[in-house]
Amino acid sequence: MNKPELLAPAGNLEKLKIALIYGADAVYVGGKNFSLRAFGGNFTDDELKIAVDFAHSMNKKIYVAVNIFAHNDDIEELKNFLKFLDDIRVDAVLISDLGVFSLAKELTNLEIHISTQANITNYKTVEMWKNLGASRVVLARELTHDEIVNIKKNSAIELEMFIHGAMCISYSGRCYLSHYLTGRDGNQGECTHSCRWKYNLVEEKRPGEYFEVSEDDRGSYVMNSKDLCLLPCLDKVIESGVSSLKIEGRMKSVHYVASVVKVYRQAIDDLMQNAELRIKNEWIEELDKVAHRPYTTGFFESDGSSTEIYDTSKAKQSSTFLGLVKDFDPLTKIATVEQRGKMEIDQQIEILQPHDKNFSQVLTEMTDEEGNFINSAPHAQQIVKIKFLQDVEKWSLIRTLKQK
Ligand code: SF4
Repeated sequence: MNKPELLAPAGNLEKLKIALIYGADAVYVGGKNFSLRAFGGNFTDDELKIAVDFAHSMNKKIYVAVNIFAHNDDIEELKNFLKFLDDIRVDAVLISDLGVFSLAKELTNLEIHISTQANITNYKTVEMWKNLGASRVVLARELTHDEIVNIKKNSAIELEMFIHGAMCISYSGRCYLSHYLTGRDGNQGECTHSCRWKYNLVEEKRPGEYFEVSEDDRGSYVMNSKDLCLLPCLDKVIESGVSSLKIEGRMKSVHYVASVVKVYRQAIDDLMQNAELRIKNEWIEELDKVAHRPYTTGFFESDGSSTEIYDTSKAKQSSTFLGLVKDFDPLTKIATVEQRGKMEIDQQIEILQPHDKNFSQVLTEMTDEEGNFINSAPHAQQIVKIKFLQDVEKWSLIRTLKQK
């Protein structure tokens, strides 16, 4: 059984570094245009060059999403962008539009992965994309385990599938809801997640009178999907022979990227050593610490019919990100930390490390950059020095032990 690639989202350079340092084999990013995350903190051309160099310096891969449905006006700029990506040697581009695909084939030597936006749900479609020259396809989320196994059996190119993250209630993002309600088009990377809003019915002659829309007595978030989490069935995912396991979330936080990547890194590595291994509670607990909606295995283990949430559209998390360890002096056990949330003396903190075990302690000693003792660090991205009781890895995340 081949070990699958762990593929993580990276909305900016910091998240890219975190994803790779915490164990992703590859990352996917978007340029400033042409990727379906217009608000995902996408990369400028200069940042893309830095990102490619960083990923390659770690012998890891970087894929760039060019997965909009292009209009005529996009074509000239797309040509330049694709040539640029070829020049800086990204490892693949992620495409869903056949016209963009043909441009990439004509103008570049780039490897092409077909985005989940192309809604690939059967092996004949995989075969067609292979014949056209794609090296990998990302399967639609709307597939059961048996269907994925069957597609794998009948396919001769790499398959990639989502294992974790938010889901669309419509078919893998082919949705006009956001554009219809807000003018912001999900198919151009501007989705406002209108499917998660609370809806009421208003009769035209009774303005201001809201009638609740409800499927049953649980409520009315009829289009509000749970988040995908295939950790509980990761053994079956790996057995299916898919080449790459993808985490959703280019717009998610540094905390989300670090935590989710670390859990799946450990789980994949441990399951490859021992296929009988049971999923550890500590992994499930870790995934609960970052912002998420209730988890579901989606279509993988069923027909996806129990994937809606009825009580709230808000994500929950049991821990808050407080600071990023930029440096550590093992002699003094003092770390240089960039503040990301309000830190206070006597606060119980937990440290999430890229490789070593998490640990917790009370925050007992903190100074500002000049060495003055301080009781709290309220300023955004303030640099502080914190005394630890043990060694801390650079790039560790400091967070609350429990949500306040
Ligand atoms: S509105 Fe919801 S279903 Fe539609 S594209 Fe956005 S997230 Fe997906």
